[in-house]
This record gives sequence, C-alpha cells and structure tokens, in this order.
Amino acid sequence: MAALQDLKKARILVTNDDGYQAPGLEILEEIASQLSDDVWLVAPEVEQSGAGHSLTLRRPLRVRQRGPRHFSVDGTPTDCVLLAVSKILGDRRPDLVLSGVNRGGNMGEDVTYSGTVAAAMEATFLGVPAIALSQEYDASDRIDWGAAADFAPGIIRRLAAGPWHRDLLYSINFPPCPAEKVKGVRAVAQGRRSGHIAVIEGRDPKGRPYMWIGDYTDESSDQPGTDLEAVAHHAVAVTPLHLDLTHAPSLEPLDTLLR
Ligand code: MN
Repeated sequence: MAALQDLKKARILVTNDDGYQAPGLEILEEIASQLSDDVWLVAPEVEQSGAGHSLTLRRPLRVRQRGPRHFSVDGTPTDCVLLAVSKILGDRRPDLVLSGVNRGGNMGEDVTYSGTVAAAMEATFLGVPAIALSQEYDASDRIDWGAAADFAPGIIRRLAAGPWHRDLLYSINFPPCPAEKVKGVRAVAQGRRSGHIAVIEGRDPKGRPYMWIGDYTDESSDQPGTDLEAVAHHAVAVTPLHLDLTHAPSLEPLDTLLR
C-alpha cells in the first residue's frame, strides 16, 4: 500500500466503540483536525466496548446525521466503518481511519475483544490504512487523556510517512500518566496477561442466580517488549497487528501430520 504522502490532503474517518458521545471521540476528532481539514465522524449510537469484530446482519441499520460530516449508526464499530466507506462518505473513500481514543487500554488479550481495534481491522479489510488508539487509566478510574492528546498527532504523522503493508494495522496504547511524564514511544508486540478473566456469581434482587463477566484476576505481565510492559513503564506502546491469523510455522508440520 502506498504511503500517505500528504496527510494534509487526506480524508480521515474517525470512529470508536465507546459511542458517539464519548469524550475520547471528541479528543480523536481534535487530533485528526490537526492533521487534515477533511475529517469525517461515523460512530456507534451507544457504547459497543467488547463488541469485537461483530457485524449486524439480522436487522437494518439506521444512520443519523448529527451535524456536518458527523453521523451515528445504531450498530457496531465494524458496521460504522463498513457503512462509512461504502455509502456515507460518498464517492471519495477515506485515506486513513482512526479509531478511539478508547477509554482504557487495548493490550494483550483485549485486542481480540476490542471494538476499537475491530474498527481498524475492518478498515484494513477494505484497503484503508487504520490506527486504533487507546488511553489506559489507573486504578483511581479518573482518566487523563493528556498522553493521547499530546503524542497522537506526531506518532500518526510518522506512521503515515512509513511503508504500510497490506493486512497491517497499528494499535497505539497511551500510558496512564501526564504527557510530560511519558517515557518515550516504543514498538512492541501484543502481550499476554498473567491472569484470566474472572466470572462472578451472585443473586439478583429477586434471588435468581446470575453470572457476570468481570476483570482480569491479574493484569500484570512479565514479558518484556510487549504492550503491557511498555505501558506499565509509562511508555507509549505502538503495536503492528496483522490480519492474517495463520500460524505459519505450523503449516509444514501440520501437512506432515495430515498425510
Ligand atoms: Mn471501548
């Protein structure tokens, strides 16, 4: 895929999975506006975190225009990108899709559940370069968007200037600290947490049992060179993700096994 030669002339589509009214989307639109004057926003009407790469097939989708170049869709992040590229933006496709800024990191296992990353995956399937952006927050739950707001424009410019392989997308995770405390920008692999997702059991007010999917039992990761480790050390983590899920080293032994 050709490099994004002139970002100033690029048409940028902004989307997310936290919904049309999420603060992170407003921050991303502001980031995109620093890069280009042709910024379009198509985002889910309600929050879609954890929606992954799901597609709405069993009902029609409604698109609502909210303002100039602003639309909401009553569907998933994937629906938004698909509708934006094939219909809403008209004759000119976007040159770049930015998804986020997600409220919370999308590191390690999150990548497979994330609607934020899935929107960027969908753009990649459609042949449009895409970047997912996520702002990690600390235990206090008070989210500081400073690292994303300060670092994103420069990182996007550098990524756009480089080579962009087919099937490749980038995921950027910003650490939970003020911008001036950020310890560099690192290229890192997708990590894996030490713990697993907890399932909580309880009873509702009528005494009926429920199960509720909770958080990770252990968020930490001891693997160096990963998104989890970089963000824990307050660096910005940039991860190149690939849509071909084939585990290439297994092909030959598998072939032998199946003979
Ligand atoms: Mn989200």
